Amino acid sequence: MRHILLAAASAAVFAMPVAARAADDGETAFRALYKELVETNTDHKIGDCTTAARQIAARMKAAGFTDSELNVFVPEGLPLDGGLIATMAGSDTSKGAVMLLAHLDVVEARREDWTRDPFTLVEENGWFYGRGTADDKAQAAIWADTLIRLRQAGAKPKRTLKMVLSCGEESLPRINNIRWLIEKHPDWIKADFALNEGGSGALKPDGTPLALGFQAGEKVTQNFVIEATNPGGHSSVPRPDNAIYALATALSRMAAYQFPVRFNDVTKNMFASVATMTPAPVGPAMARLVANPGDAEANAIVSADPRFGSMLRTTCVATLLEGGHAINALPQRAKATVNCRMFPSDKPDEVKAALVAAIGDAPVTVSAIPPVNPVNPPPLLSEEVFGTAKKVAAKHWPGIPVVPTMSTGATDGRFLIQAGIPTYGVPGFFAEPDNNAHGLNERISVKGVMAGRAYLFDLTKAYAGVK
Ligand SMILES: [Zn+2]
Repeated sequence: MRHILLAAASAAVFAMPVAARAADDGETAFRALYKELVETNTDHKIGDCTTAARQIAARMKAAGFTDSELNVFVPEGLPLDGGLIATMAGSDTSKGAVMLLAHLDVVEARREDWTRDPFTLVEENGWFYGRGTADDKAQAAIWADTLIRLRQAGAKPKRTLKMVLSCGEESLPRINNIRWLIEKHPDWIKADFALNEGGSGALKPDGTPLALGFQAGEKVTQNFVIEATNPGGHSSVPRPDNAIYALATALSRMAAYQFPVRFNDVTKNMFASVATMTPAPVGPAMARLVANPGDAEANAIVSADPRFGSMLRTTCVATLLEGGHAINALPQRAKATVNCRMFPSDKPDEVKAALVAAIGDAPVTVSAIPPVNPVNPPPLLSEEVFGTAKKVAAKHWPGIPVVPTMSTGATDGRFLIQAGIPTYGVPGFFAEPDNNAHGLNERISVKGVMAGRAYLFDLTKAYAGVK
């Protein structure tokens, strides 16, 4: 997935605050684990998540984890698409587990396109370069390192900690481990809530922290096909009705349509906070829009930034197009695939009805492409989860607000939320906007990784009740 960052700081240079840390807290061992993970290709073509899972399990075993605490699972028929579940049992059986979630797989990277070898961890001028350094191997390495440190320190968690390192987050068509686990082994991943990627941090232009993003909820993807058909005929005798023209009319009407502004608790809270940090005219317009979602002028100002616009509503955009069958024939068929990202409270039927209404009398059909995704309400911002994250953040970054955010993209959280496990993108692990996740020369700042490691270690301890 793409990390969503607080767009309020779009003009800012993102960098990382340095968290204070002890001189020797296992950083050398963490770096070795991270390096091995980045250097193990886990793309969906020739990569091997199972090997990466086994390597991490071996390090955990060396740190004192037993075989029964380490579950390297491999879906049948897919030997390279395995993952790892590591469990550290808590003493308080009245409470469910806390899941530490990250994905092992990465988007493909071609050596010939990259400046440096994508599968060698290169540290240069304060950056770690390599495929997966940001998305999502830093977090995977931090979770494993956190459990290793807790075990080595003899920690006795009250709550069970369950680390789930999955495969197939980036390449859904083959397998998605989380979906597979929910279907085949729901008991393995039972948890009260999950901590995931997708949180963020933003800095002011001078490099000091502005805000931390705590992700609660994601938009939901639903694809549609808009299609026009026609008896066709010889192109030497054009007729007014034409499948390509009908589709073009429908698409241009859809393009002109804007879904209404929607808020939920998370986005209302987010826009209200970001309004106070954002200069005029956008900041004041945000405040007006929160007060009155029907304020058209404020909507126009805020929605001019596509990242804000996408947070405010369902969006639908044509992404694929095909039509016609011969250079000298009137088109019999023309169709477009439309990718919608639904605001969590919008339903697929309502989105389809809005598209049909926007298209009006253009002679096309609109149909949802299966699977039709259920509505995915955002997880609650409970005191236990959100309050604790804020408390720990206040120690690491005093005075910096923690702002709830909703992702406009999608992670494995969407499956877990549907399965009844509230899933949150934790902050502290920062993803710079120029980290180029999924793209060329992916990188993450060394300070960022280390600050995230320090924060997430303390956050895990706080959730697990480790003193
Ligand atoms: Zn990711």
